[in-house]
Amino acid sequence: RKRLANERRLEPAITRDGHPVEIAANIGAAGETPEAVAMGAEGIGLLRTELVFMNHSQAPDQATQEAEYRRVLEALQGRPLVVRTLDVGGDKPLPYWPMPAEENPFLGVRGIRLSLQRPDILETQLRALLASADGRPLRIMFPMVGNIDEWRTAKAMVDRLRVELPVADLQVGIMIEIPSAALIAPVLAQEVDFFSIGTNDLTQYTLAIDRGHPTLSGQADGLHPAVLRLIGMTVEAAHAHGKWVGVCGELAADALAVPMLVGLGVDELSVSARSIALVKARVRELDFAACQRLAQQALMLPGAHEVRAFVGEHC
Ligand code: PEP
Ligand code: MG
Repeated sequence: RKRLANERRLEPAITRDGHPVEIAANIGAAGETPEAVAMGAEGIGLLRTELVFMNHSQAPDQATQEAEYRRVLEALQGRPLVVRTLDVGGDKPLPYWPMPAEENPFLGVRGIRLSLQRPDILETQLRALLASADGRPLRIMFPMVGNIDEWRTAKAMVDRLRVELPVADLQVGIMIEIPSAALIAPVLAQEVDFFSIGTNDLTQYTLAIDRGHPTLSGQADGLHPAVLRLIGMTVEAAHAHGKWVGVCGELAADALAVPMLVGLGVDELSVSARSIALVKARVRELDFAACQRLAQQALMLPGAHEVRAFVGEHC
């Protein structure tokens, strides 16, 4: 089965009844791009840019960043690149960016909250991104957006910069990884170009379980119906406005989760390069209409255990 999946890794993932699901790769450095493409990635669904910032004693300048982003776009040969702006803070400090200690770093100044406190650093990153595109498909997204003002402030910065640095094929979106963002998705969907659901954090914040907790993290299961409902609401809101939705958290590579995510209407799954062949194979054995029905039924189950048993039985 694994061999067959691997042989078909470069083919698209289409369900038995003809519904396509885009399969992209999550990467943390430009050098991983050629391998991701060789493993069957139809694009990069999440470029985490933290490493670009962590490997330096000071914030990398525009030219340094631009070179990195160009490397990814070149290796993608026309496939789309979804880049997440810097997502640090709290538990992920940077040497040149002093941050006050926080009692609850996961509930503190991280992601877009931190970037908006240092607009100079965000602006340099956005300039590097826009300058690197050269007509190739670039999607920029902001992490940890929890309210509409954060999105509007960040988006306004992109709009100001793109006058000077126009990009022919640009989409700007947000990650959905805070429950408040999923709950106001119908409002956000009017303004963004796309959503990418970060199920690692969305699960953590929905279930109030630290994703790295030594004894509880096993219970932080994104197949909890509460998380599935937030995903379903997000997709519904996006599609009502003609926008697309990806999932870039670990859940996207979970064999029992794939039928649920597909059934809820997720358009793209972004997973580590080594999972691509198997996730594509998983999609090919599914029936989209059946997944839609099963996903709606799963929303009525009481917990993640029940959802896992239910999917195991039916898919
Ligand atoms: C997520 O939260 O699901 C995500 C993809 O982002 P990260 O794991 O980098 O926090
Ligand atoms: Mg996250």
